[in-house]
Amino acid sequence: METIRLGRPRAIFVISQKGNKMIKFKGYTYSAMRGLGAKVRWRCSTHHNHGCKAVVITVEDQIISVKDDHNHLSQSNCLSKGG
Ligand SMILES: [Zn+2]
Repeated sequence: METIRLGRPRAIFVISQKGNKMIKFKGYTYSAMRGLGAKVRWRCSTHHNHGCKAVVITVEDQIISVKDDHNHLSQSNCLSKGG
């Protein structure tokens, strides 16, 4: 059984339809950018080309930094039509 660790958020890795590794975190999806060694930068996969500046940084698959700077709602909040 897994226990939920408080404190450090856990990354949930998913594979996209194109076979790319992505992160799901708080209802947002992030896709990997070029990383240096174990450190990988992930950017908002759905809205980075719409100016979303949210970024997640992982080291060895652990989230070490999150910039939750989304300019849109998460997918789970987008079920109803808005704006
Ligand atoms: Zn975003």
